[in-house]
Amino acid sequence: MFINGQWCEAKDGSRFDVINPANGTVIDSVPDGGKEDVIEAIDAATEAFKTWSKATAYQRSAFLYKAHGIMLARKEDLARTMTTEQGKPLKAARNEVQYGADFLLWYAEEAKRIYGETIPAPRGDQRFIVQQHPVGVVGAVTPWNYPISMLTRKIAPALAAGCTIVLKPAEATPLCAVAMFKIFEEAGLPAGVVNLVTTSNPAAIGEEFVSNPKIAKLTFTGSTNVGKMLAQGAAANMKRVSMELGGHAPFIVFDDADPEHAAKGVSLVKFLNTGQACISPNRIFVHKSIVEPFLETLHTRVHRMRGGNGLEDGVSIGPLVGPGAIEKVERQVKDALDKGARLICGGHRLMDNDLDKGFFYAPTILADVTEDMLIYREETFGPVAPVLTFENEEEVLEKANDTNYGLAAYVYTPNIGRAFRMFESLKFGIIGINDINPTAAAAPFGGMKESGLGREGGHEGIAEYLETKLGGFSI
Ligand code: NAD
Repeated sequence: MFINGQWCEAKDGSRFDVINPANGTVIDSVPDGGKEDVIEAIDAATEAFKTWSKATAYQRSAFLYKAHGIMLARKEDLARTMTTEQGKPLKAARNEVQYGADFLLWYAEEAKRIYGETIPAPRGDQRFIVQQHPVGVVGAVTPWNYPISMLTRKIAPALAAGCTIVLKPAEATPLCAVAMFKIFEEAGLPAGVVNLVTTSNPAAIGEEFVSNPKIAKLTFTGSTNVGKMLAQGAAANMKRVSMELGGHAPFIVFDDADPEHAAKGVSLVKFLNTGQACISPNRIFVHKSIVEPFLETLHTRVHRMRGGNGLEDGVSIGPLVGPGAIEKVERQVKDALDKGARLICGGHRLMDNDLDKGFFYAPTILADVTEDMLIYREETFGPVAPVLTFENEEEVLEKANDTNYGLAAYVYTPNIGRAFRMFESLKFGIIGINDINPTAAAAPFGGMKESGLGREGGHEGIAEYLETKLGGFSI
């Protein structure tokens, strides 16, 4: 763990193992921090806030630029750590490191653009000015599926704004966090500005984040259930929160779209990170008239995908995070098949060539999916593409919006009017129109409804770490 500028063990000396999900072997172990450790980290961040919040925007920016440079120089090592610990293919891991580094660069720049305002006052002898101030000490909780970019997406804007931070990474991927904190240390951040507490007992740390009066803000990325619980705790103490939660993205292919092009898009975005992405399509609505050519192309592409250890060449499907994830996928697929879905391919674990030692599931396509199936409502977080058909625009819009989630949605159509109608009517925070990757450090990422509160990335991302302060001056 990294607390107050020092690498340290847990106070009780305990550690927990980190497992490679591709083969079940123990890669390493990390300190198993608890309440006392996180309190020490929060105290260190509170002390560091006194000076860090007074550093100039240019000073804060310089640290972020430096960390960005070190991160890029270490891209290959970081990617290999990620593949070994999290399982995604090396090429995808490299892409994620780049995406993660982009946040350091973007917020190195944004740090210098925290502008204020002057407002005409009602009295002649009065002046109003508005400034933006850092909220204070931030508690951050990150997931395992994007173990580096989810971390920089929080740390970079927090530091740019002048906040200090205590981060708790997911228990499945602490090594990526350790590697990133070595970079922050090398960039020369003052002691206590960033602190890392690893643990196998996240509830104990979450409890401290929401109850400790020194924490001003909680930022969380993970499941909707845990997010709601933490938001309730934070509300009891009126702490600021940002919540990046689950999703259930509709992917809509209209009859005027090219079914082959759309199927190619689905094959790329659905199986990215083995389906373990919050913006992964979870209901693929294809117009009835083009569903067969769509399925044919999707099947051809999925058939070519090879599961395996992400360090090997040619592997495009890595393991799932653990046995619980496989069980969830199996339950959803069985339920769909029992209720009449058609299995186009997959539908089983991958066992050959020693893959049974890891947590692999074959890329799967289900056709004839209906609204009574679990997969129609529950986030899958696995490599299953459920395909449904529709007949007209109003019907598909209503169905697409019929979910408690509101993170990402995708639409394929060459009709500009229809594209605008869908963009404006879909109740989702991120909408890809003929585009499967509507994300970048410069763009606001986040969801509506039970997919969360607030945005990360873009200029919106830094506002989450700022308080607005009004000065009324009588002159
Ligand atoms: P999770 O909620 O189980 O875990 C996420 C993080 O929360 C981990 O660090 C975990 O240790 C921690 N956690 C678990 N219980 C906690 C508690 N009681 N108190 C404090 N922290 C606790 O989710 P997961 O299964 O690891 O991650 C996948 C979920 O994250 C999916 O639902 C996915 O959609 C979502 N996600 C959302 C985004 C986004 O930007 N919206 C990005 C990535 C993942």
